[in-house]
Amino acid sequence: MASDEFDSTRRLLVGGLATGAAAALASPALAQAPASPPSPAGGASSQRLVDPTAKYPKPPFPKQEQPWPGLASRMNPRPDHGETSYRGSGRLAGRKALVTGGDSGIGRAAVIAFAREGADVAINYLPAEEEDAREVVELIRQAGGKGVALPGDIREEAFCQKLVADAVRELGGLDILVNNAAFQRPRKSILDISSEEFDQTFKTNVYAPFWITKAALPHLKPGSAIITTSSVNAYDPGENLLAYASTKAVNMNFTKSLAKQLAPKGIRVNAVAPGPVWTPLQPSGGQFPEDLPDFGATSPMGRPGQPAELAPLFVLLASDEATFSTGQVFGAVGGRGGP
Ligand code: NAD
Ligand code: MG
Repeated sequence: MASDEFDSTRRLLVGGLATGAAAALASPALAQAPASPPSPAGGASSQRLVDPTAKYPKPPFPKQEQPWPGLASRMNPRPDHGETSYRGSGRLAGRKALVTGGDSGIGRAAVIAFAREGADVAINYLPAEEEDAREVVELIRQAGGKGVALPGDIREEAFCQKLVADAVRELGGLDILVNNAAFQRPRKSILDISSEEFDQTFKTNVYAPFWITKAALPHLKPGSAIITTSSVNAYDPGENLLAYASTKAVNMNFTKSLAKQLAPKGIRVNAVAPGPVWTPLQPSGGQFPEDLPDFGATSPMGRPGQPAELAPLFVLLASDEATFSTGQVFGAVGGRGGP
């Protein structure tokens, strides 16, 4: 559906209907409290209080490992990306978004929310993640939007340029850029980090957002938004994540500097800083396998976050509601080590 044909009523209905199909498609093994039906005036008639400590699975988790880059569909329990819970209200009607790492995890949750808020969305991911990506494109279509799959490796500048050009062509423009893809490997000592691994971490997490943002900028009009996924590690770096944590600090600084550069052009740049979140990044080499069962245990919430809990921040930062917020970092860390 072209953006100028957007009909928020239809999209809301489609978004609502999509939840059943999405559940069949994605079936996250997580109990969800059904959202209250909207009242005729558009507001919720009543909202049950939800205890955040009891909302999602807690450690210990089953032992599990996957080859990098990992698939959401192979995780136990399956992450909740909002497939059955996110309800849109036209906050991004007609917007065109590109999200890297949009196949799984935090990126996927942002994509589902963007689509249900009325956006058309292009996602980038690695070819090995095609299975996850197909589910996401289907969810975008069920929400009534255009979903564009653009697989490829963002460690190459030429691919980053092609990615943006393809997204702009397929979507008919670009208003929202989410630099979210990342690579993470834990090592107990700096002596264990090879130059190749250091290079992969910086190419994926630092160079790619630089290249993609450079390519996107000429297409972004006043009112557009750039969002970067940083991390709690930008503030409170884990001793086992020297390379990764360094890149996440770069993400934060890049965001703040670029925000000052682009504010006069009417383009906002913000970051989201998650704490521990249950995503394929973790069982596919992002954690030591022996640590995974206790993932999130030290969070004051007593559990890791789920990708769906990050999506509203991305929507807020992409929408016209947060127009005086730029150069900011919005944390969702479960209580420890935030901005
Ligand atoms: P994820 O594995 O679901 O997403 C990461 C994505 O990066 C992958 O899906 C993959 O498509 C992409 N990617 C990696 N290397 C790539 C390459 N060379 N080319 C193209 N794509 C590539 O995991 P996630 O946890 O949702 O990660 C998303 C973001 O969240 C990352 O920026 C990560 O640093 C950040 N983050 C995650 C956590 C956490 O605990 N999961 C905490 C803080 C920050
Ligand atoms: Mg993935």
